[in-house]
Amino acid sequence: MQIAAGEAKVITDIVLLSFSGYVCNSIYETVKITFLGTGTSQGVPVIACECAVCQSADPMDKRLRASLMVETASNTIVIDAGPDFRQQMLNAKVKKLDAILLTHEHKDHIAGMDDLRAFNYKSQAAIDIYAEERVQGAVRKEYAYVFSENHYPGVPRMELHNIDNYKLELKGDTVTPLRVFHYRLPIFGFRIGDMAYITDANYIPEETKEQLIGVKYLVINALRKEKHISHYSLGEALGLIREVSPRKAYITHIGHQMGKHAEVNRELPVNVTLAWDGLEVACEE
Ligand SMILES: [Zn+2]
Ligand SMILES: [Zn+2]
Repeated sequence: MQIAAGEAKVITDIVLLSFSGYVCNSIYETVKITFLGTGTSQGVPVIACECAVCQSADPMDKRLRASLMVETASNTIVIDAGPDFRQQMLNAKVKKLDAILLTHEHKDHIAGMDDLRAFNYKSQAAIDIYAEERVQGAVRKEYAYVFSENHYPGVPRMELHNIDNYKLELKGDTVTPLRVFHYRLPIFGFRIGDMAYITDANYIPEETKEQLIGVKYLVINALRKEKHISHYSLGEALGLIREVSPRKAYITHIGHQMGKHAEVNRELPVNVTLAWDGLEVACEE
């Protein structure tokens, strides 16, 4: 797979990359992540909002609902498939999808799954969906027509697999579910290699922090600067980043109240960046 040069926007940090001429092969063990969406549940801009962020002309201030693509030597995995899933697959030109991992059942994380049909047609197979039992229940309810006895022709095909607190083996990749809390709702983040993705959390138990030891690339949610009942604030996220001490940290699930991308980014420690839609990072050893 060749990754086109020049797609990534210029940033001062060198972790990312224009990827010019980079070739993946069987010994390629770097995990590559692509931020498909970095916005909170309403996205940015928010419909009908006239605030400076929602009116900003900066493309970095346009955020689809939070989702991450993880590419390894064996798999293309997407974490969450919210209402912008179709646009995100088109934007990132995704041609193959091996699995969807679901963090939790809120609409901004599962509303786009009807569009898995396109991948079903292409691969002539169901898409593997990994979720804990409660989340599977929500998916069965939301997409009742997918799981009914009498299929209408052309409905999406999904194969549900259970996540518990143990590691998942996914065709050559080990995925470690990370238990975190979204106010009182237990949800999952995921660690793949030295990269961990945690969204919609505002409490991380000590046992989970132990699972974050050695993480070099940490993606963590922060909604805004002020405290919120079910999401980390920017200050709380920076506190976790200090504890985990990754080489690089990326903030996601950002709301319009965070402020303008360029202005907030200037205030952050050197190893922390607000992620933006389309950002690609090669998570090197
Ligand atoms: Zn969310
Ligand atoms: Zn949520």
